[in-house]
Amino acid sequence: MSFLEYAPAPESRSILHLKKSYGLFIDGEFRDGHGTPFTTISPADESPIAKISNADASDVDSAVSAARRAYDRVWSRMSGRDRGKYLFRIARLVQERTRELAVAESLDNGKPIKESRDVDVPLVAAWFFYYAGWADKLDHAGFGPSPHALGVAAQVIPWNFPLLMLAWKIAPALAAGNTVVLKPAETTPLSALIFAEILQQADLPAGVVNIVTGAGDTGSALVNHPDVDKVAFTGSTAVGRAIAKSTAGTAKKLTLELGGKAANIVFDDAPMDQAIEGIVNGIFFNQGHVCCAGSRLLVQENVHDEVIDRLKQRLTTLRMGDPLDKNTDIGAINSKAQLDRIRTLSDIGEQEGAERWTADCVIPAKGFWFAPTIFTNVETSHRIAREEIFGPVLSVLTFRTPAEAIAKANNTPYGLSAGIWSDKGSRILGVADRLRAGVVWANTFNRFDPASPFGGYKESGYGREGGRHGLGAYLQSGWNASAVVKSATAKKEVAR
Ligand code: NAD
Repeated sequence: MSFLEYAPAPESRSILHLKKSYGLFIDGEFRDGHGTPFTTISPADESPIAKISNADASDVDSAVSAARRAYDRVWSRMSGRDRGKYLFRIARLVQERTRELAVAESLDNGKPIKESRDVDVPLVAAWFFYYAGWADKLDHAGFGPSPHALGVAAQVIPWNFPLLMLAWKIAPALAAGNTVVLKPAETTPLSALIFAEILQQADLPAGVVNIVTGAGDTGSALVNHPDVDKVAFTGSTAVGRAIAKSTAGTAKKLTLELGGKAANIVFDDAPMDQAIEGIVNGIFFNQGHVCCAGSRLLVQENVHDEVIDRLKQRLTTLRMGDPLDKNTDIGAINSKAQLDRIRTLSDIGEQEGAERWTADCVIPAKGFWFAPTIFTNVETSHRIAREEIFGPVLSVLTFRTPAEAIAKANNTPYGLSAGIWSDKGSRILGVADRLRAGVVWANTFNRFDPASPFGGYKESGYGREGGRHGLGAYLQSGWNASAVVKSATAKKEVAR
C-alpha cells in the first residue's frame, strides 16, 4: 500500500439518458435495421449497455440513397456560409453535452474519463469549429477556383477514439459540401448514436449525415456501394488493403488512415523529466490503443539504464481501474479480442528473448485489463518491434549515433508518426528531416490540433486528415459546372 491512497471519485452516470436499444440513423430518423441486433458492453465489467441495430446491405442502400437525395436536393445547393452555421451549431451542442458524451465514451470504450472529458470531446468540438470556419472559404483554400464537393462519402472508423474519429471524418466532409454515411466500430457505437441525436437537435437537414451500425459486413457493403463517391477509412492495415483492392478501378476517391509502429527517440541530452512524461503519454495514453502511439522507444545507449529506471518508477504511480473514476490513468482494454492479441504478442516477445517488466497493478476481477508493460533487450527483428500491438506495451531498443537512430526508426513497414527528444534544435530538425513519418513531434508526443494535417507513409496509409489538407480529401479541384451536372444525370440514368 502506498502512502497516498486516493478515495474513489466516480463520475456520475446520471447525466446519461441511455435507451434500451438504438436504431440506425437514416434520413434524419432512427429506424430498426434488418440484421440481427447486437449488444454493446462495457469492457470494464462486461455489463451490457444497450442493444444496437445491425445494418444489412438493404439498410446501407437506404442510407446511401438518403445521402444522395440530401446531396442533390439540399446540401450541394446550400451556400458555404449556411453549411458553416450548421457546423458551428453542432460544435456548440457537443460542448454543451460534453459530460454526457464523455461518460458514454468511457463506458463504451473503457478509456479513462479524464481522457474522454479533457481530450477526446474537446477535440471533437474543436474539429467542428475549425471546419465550420472553412465552409465559406473554399475558394481561397488553394484548390483552384470554385472547388466542388465529391458527393456522398462512405466513412468507416475504428473503436479507439470513436467520437473523435467521427469528427475527423464528418466535419471536413460537410464543410466541403459532401453528405455522409458513417459506420462506427461494432464495439463502440454509443457515442455516434448520441451524436445522431445532436444532429437532430441541430436541425441538420435529413439525410446529410446517416449513421449505420454493424460489423465488417456492414462496412464492406458501405464502401463497396456503387453510389458512393468517396471512401474514407481508418482502421487496420489488413482491412485498408482489402478496401484499396475493392475500390481500385472505380471512380471512388480513397483515403486510408491505418496502423503504425512509431519510434520515440530519446537522445542523451533530452530534458529528462519531460521525456519520461512524453514516453508515458506516448504509449500508455488510451491504453496504447493509438495508431500513432510511441510503441518503440529508441533510447541512446548511455542513458538507457537511467531512462528505464525512471520509467519503471513512474509507471508504478499510474492507477489502473474504473474508467469512470476521475483518478484513473489506465482504463480497460476495449474488447476480449484485443486483449487476446496483446497477450499473444507479449508472450511472443518473451519467447523471442526480450525481457518483460510489468507494473504492479491490481487487476479487476471482471472486464478486460492489461497492466502497463515494458520490454527491454528488444531486437529489431522481434515481432514486438515490428508489429502493432495496439496496447499498453512498450518495446525498448537502443542506439549510439543519430544515424543509427534514424535507420532503426525507419526500419518498419509503417510510417505514421515519430517523436524526438533532445535539447538541440538543430539535431531535432536534422533527424526529423530524415524520418519517414507523417507526423514528427519534438519534445512532446500525441499532440493534436485540427489545423494540423495527420496521416502516414507506407503501410500507414495515404491521404491527410486535419487542416487544409483534410479539406482537399473531400473536394474535386478545377470544378466545371457542366461536368458535374452531366455526372449527376449519368448517375440517375444508371439508377433507372
Ligand atoms: P479494423 O480494421 O478491424 O476495423 C476498423 C473498422 O472497419 C471497424 O468499423 C470495422 O467494423 C470495419 N471493417 C472491418 N472489416 C471491414 C471490411 N471488410 N470492409 C469495411 N469495413 C470493415 O481495425 P480496428 O481493430 O477496429 O482498429 C484498430 C486499427 O486501426 C489499428 O491498426 C490502428 O492503428 C488503426 N487506426 C489508425 C488510425 C489512423 O489515423 N491512422 C487511427 C485509429 C486507429
